[in-house]
Amino acid sequence: MSWRRPFKELNPTVEELTVKVLEEGKGVAQNPGWQTLGSVTRLDCHNPLCQGGGVDLHHTLREMVATRREELENVKMCGGVEGGGPSVAPRHCLNRFAFRISLVYRAEGDR
Ligand SMILES: [Zn+2]
Repeated sequence: MSWRRPFKELNPTVEELTVKVLEEGKGVAQNPGWQTLGSVTRLDCHNPLCQGGGVDLHHTLREMVATRREELENVKMCGGVEGGGPSVAPRHCLNRFAFRISLVYRAEGDR
């Protein structure tokens, strides 16, 4: 799947992508602090019950590139669902991701 490839491969104008995340919720250490993930386009959810979770950053990254934005901070909820058993109804995963994205662009005409 394309999100596994480094974002800068997909966007030749991007020299460097750095993503940092602070995840809160189930399966996360008590005081995790900010973690540097580097060149990723997706945040993984660590809630062990979560299915289809995480946050896809592709849309955000595309918008940043379109406007040549270098820094962005945002908070998103996990998009996954906690799988229920036969007696438990599935519900939305409540893990929360604060993230910071830094992009470094190639200089104009530098190819
Ligand atoms: Zn989740």
